[in-house]
Amino acid sequence: MSYPNPKKTLTIRYTSTKECPNCEGRGDNGAAWRPLACKRCRGRGDLVLDVEIEDSVEGLLPRSAYDFNTLGEVYLLDFDEDEEIEIIRPASGVDPREP
Ligand SMILES: [Zn+2]
Repeated sequence: MSYPNPKKTLTIRYTSTKECPNCEGRGDNGAAWRPLACKRCRGRGDLVLDVEIEDSVEGLLPRSAYDFNTLGEVYLLDFDEDEEIEIIRPASGVDPREP
């Protein structure tokens, strides 16, 4: 007998961001007639400086449990790949996967 495993939820929050110095927060550095997503922030307009992740079961994760970059991409370092986790990412203005 094992306890039913409630599905874990990880909520990612950006706790510190700064305006992208390359595009001055506009998210693009092309001309008005030919918008070009800024390469540094990939169209977000800001850079992520700090992230916190809240685990629905264990609370805030220690900083050593994850890594992130200034684009806001977060990498979990010590999670079991078989574990079913729902990840809630912060809404961002622009989806970097869009062309
Ligand atoms: Zn930028």
